[in-house]
Amino acid sequence: MKQTILEMEEYASEKNVPIIEKKSIAFIMKYIKEHNVKNILEIGSAIGYSAILMAGASEDVFVTTIERDEERYMECLKNVKKCGMDKKINVVFQDALDVNLSEDVKYDLIFIDAAKGQYTKFFEKYKYFLKSDGAIISDNLKFHGYVGDSDNIESKNLKGLVKKIESYIDYLKENPEFETKFYDIGDGLSVSTWKNEK
Ligand code: SAM
Repeated sequence: MKQTILEMEEYASEKNVPIIEKKSIAFIMKYIKEHNVKNILEIGSAIGYSAILMAGASEDVFVTTIERDEERYMECLKNVKKCGMDKKINVVFQDALDVNLSEDVKYDLIFIDAAKGQYTKFFEKYKYFLKSDGAIISDNLKFHGYVGDSDNIESKNLKGLVKKIESYIDYLKENPEFETKFYDIGDGLSVSTWKNEK
């Protein structure tokens, strides 16, 4: 598995595929172990790097991961197989906003790491699949240092995207149902838990 992880890091860097920073995945793996996380939903698989590392955090962790880009989905499947994790990782090829998950399955951890402009939509859709003592972790809340400085960004597209992340942060801070802690780790992480256990 170690070799495949290294190859994935190389592939991501060569092909410009964004994958999680090492400090951030280390934080999540620690969280998985400390909170006895077993069932994980990931929005945004890319080539399977974080899914494979999360699934490897402990023997009985199971990951469902969603990816809408076909090439990345195929690469993800290939990597999951290479690591012998077919039974621990279920890769879904679809837009996460269109997926209909079974309502009977609830997750200990939902990891949001897909289109940054859609984080609020992902959160609103998937909070219903979170266990009463589960957590939603969101990545890239600093967005390479741009967040908090959107008024000074010239590129219209980048400015719009960063504004959306800023409004997601406000949404989390003001959320009546969830309490969110923000961590200055990697590209910025948050951990949201239910205020009142359901
Ligand atoms: N979690 C991965 C890792 O650390 O190895 C990296 C994921 S990458 C930052 C984001 C991925 O989310 C991209 O591959 C992109 O195609 C996918 N994505 C973006 N929006 C999506 C959506 N609405 N549904 C499914 N996948 C999406």
